[in-house]
Amino acid sequence: MLITFAVLLFLNIYCAQACQSVFYNSKKTTMLELCQIAAGNVADLQVLNHDTVADSVADITALEQTRLIVTDQNTRVIYDNMESTVTKGKYLLYPEIVKALEGNKIFHWNYHDGTMRSCTAMPIVSHGAYIGCVYMTEYDSEQGRLISSLQSTIFTITLVLEIAVILFSFLSSNGHIKRIKQILTSIRTVRNGDYSHKLEMSGHDELNILSSEFNDLIDRLQTSENKRNRFVSDASHELKTPLASIKLLADSILQNDMDMETVREFVGDIGNEAERLNRMSQKLLALSRIDARQETDAEITYIAPTVERVVRMLSPTAKNNNITVHTDLTEDYSVLILEDDLYQVLFNLVENGIKYNKKDGELFITLKKQEEDAVIEIRDTGMGIPEDALEHIFERFYRVDKARSRSTGGSGLGLSIVRNIIRRNHGRIHVESTMGSGTKFTLHFPIFEVEEEQK
Ligand code: ADP
Repeated sequence: MLITFAVLLFLNIYCAQACQSVFYNSKKTTMLELCQIAAGNVADLQVLNHDTVADSVADITALEQTRLIVTDQNTRVIYDNMESTVTKGKYLLYPEIVKALEGNKIFHWNYHDGTMRSCTAMPIVSHGAYIGCVYMTEYDSEQGRLISSLQSTIFTITLVLEIAVILFSFLSSNGHIKRIKQILTSIRTVRNGDYSHKLEMSGHDELNILSSEFNDLIDRLQTSENKRNRFVSDASHELKTPLASIKLLADSILQNDMDMETVREFVGDIGNEAERLNRMSQKLLALSRIDARQETDAEITYIAPTVERVVRMLSPTAKNNNITVHTDLTEDYSVLILEDDLYQVLFNLVENGIKYNKKDGELFITLKKQEEDAVIEIRDTGMGIPEDALEHIFERFYRVDKARSRSTGGSGLGLSIVRNIIRRNHGRIHVESTMGSGTKFTLHFPIFEVEEEQK
């Protein structure tokens, strides 16, 4: 507002100056022309005296408000159209006359008390010599009035504009304050947990952008809050089942008179359920560790040795299930991922390939390059996944066949861990499955070329 105020003030001064300068230029031209005519007429005279000069400048002196004096080269007055002032024969040492006799054309003016006073002087040149000077003054109260009326109009306009600016600034800042208060109220509402709240704001300015960003943020908060709630309720549901089994088995042992054999069997079941709880809590911990990890947590990891480590670790399980594992790791590629994460991904997929395989089944693990990606395929000859389940298998706690998965110790968390890790490391996972003949998981990771000296 202060800037607008200053600009208007500057405009006011500038307009007043411009208006004066228009008058100045037109006045200067007219006065110099008249002076030039008078000097030319006088220069043509054969005899230079009061009467001859009066005749030659009669047209000019006929103009009201104009005073015209003609001097000789010594500043002595030959002619003055205002004879009442008695200058005739006197020496007039006005600075304008002195300068004009030195060969200069003089013009200046001033505006005072509503009257415009212009003054001009010019040498009379005859045969290349300065033989005298024409000196003219004019008092123009008409133009003076015009200038002062113009100036006062400009001043009034500026004043009105300045008042309008103040009013507008006041109203608009009031509006802004109201809208900022609205945003503050919304922030407090959301802080108190109402994520369904929406900030409605009219207009098309920065506050509007801010409010739509705010609404986006609340949407995200709501989504993550929903996810969190679903996760907590899913997790407690999953934990409830083994806990209920443990309680039931323990109660049965306490209340019934059982033979040692049955007690042993029940205690064994309690141990299995406890083991399942343990596995589940470990996977939950792994999930939250992945969520808490920074995107930048990564290292250069070679795929082939990690696959070999996983296969070695799971070979007893494969042996127990009579599954033959084939690996094709002729080429090796390095990718940007924590080795533990890659190990976790491969472990979960290979373990599933063994767990959900059929008796005497096979598991194929291959590593190849496709464009800029390292591609790992894990294919089993197991039971397969029904088509309608394929889009759900990466969800937390999802199991295709709950009863079977439970018998194999599944928690429904393995593939969601896989998906989370892959997403965080700019990879992709794809699954194809045919019921009865097997499932193939394909992983893509961008290859990270390692410089020779880094190897
Ligand atoms: P779980 O711990 O139950 O194995 P996962 O998240 O690893 O959980 O897998 C989710 C579900 O997807 C499993 O319960 C299983 O039904 C199905 N699944 C995963 N891998 C395979 C596979 N290779 N063959 C058949 N079904 C599979």
